[in-house]
Amino acid sequence: MELWITDRIQLMLLLSACAVLSSLEAFVPLFQYQRGRWRRAVPNLALAFAVVLVNLTMASITAWLSAAVTRNHIGLLAGFHSHPWVLATLGVAGLDLFAYLAHLLLHKVPLGWSFHRVHHSELEVDVTTALRQHPGETLWRIFWQLLGTAVFGLPFWIVALYLILSSLNALLEHANVRMGGRFERWLRLLIVTSNMHKVHHSRQTSETDSNYSNIFSFWDRLYGTYTDRTNYNDLRYGLDGFDNNERQTLVGLLRLPFRSEY
Ligand SMILES: [Zn+2]
Repeated sequence: MELWITDRIQLMLLLSACAVLSSLEAFVPLFQYQRGRWRRAVPNLALAFAVVLVNLTMASITAWLSAAVTRNHIGLLAGFHSHPWVLATLGVAGLDLFAYLAHLLLHKVPLGWSFHRVHHSELEVDVTTALRQHPGETLWRIFWQLLGTAVFGLPFWIVALYLILSSLNALLEHANVRMGGRFERWLRLLIVTSNMHKVHHSRQTSETDSNYSNIFSFWDRLYGTYTDRTNYNDLRYGLDGFDNNERQTLVGLLRLPFRSEY
């Protein structure tokens, strides 16, 4: 698959999902937010633009690496001859495990946490929070995608499929949409739902340090990092000490990893 085609498909799907989810946020919100929605969204959208730009710039490296490993039959799935969809499921699961590890390390390694705090300092999580990410964190996540591509020996169409599913689920996980009932409980047995990921954005440290999974929720259950919550009324987002307006501007967020006093 040509690189420019996958880039455009991904961008179109992202924009469509953003439009649908931001409409749903207006009709069935999980929380009624106090602050001006669009004023707060401006730094998030600027960071989202940077995330997309870094990903587009690095996409050719992913395509090159993928072509090199498949041409030379390198990687755990290189000699695995099966139906393409079985291969795709294994490949997507493999990349998702690497995304879980990348996220876990962002919390456990002080340097990683200094960058990842940009994402967690969000006071009112919604669909725009999904791409509120420091460019340094974006590069870290791409490094793990490249590592996964090489370790599993994945063709580019599987990597592209993973990136599309991952970004769509990231938007869904962060959307401020009320989702409950038995359907959500069943769904979260397989994938990370909006409710499950909201617990990860809790101000309470024991909850922040849990639910790291990206697409598939079973990684948290498998590695003992899963936390459940039934009542969302008293869930408070953000990080202590990061609430003032100066730390929530675009410049404040970009400088955040380099501020030793934080
Ligand atoms: Zn996190």
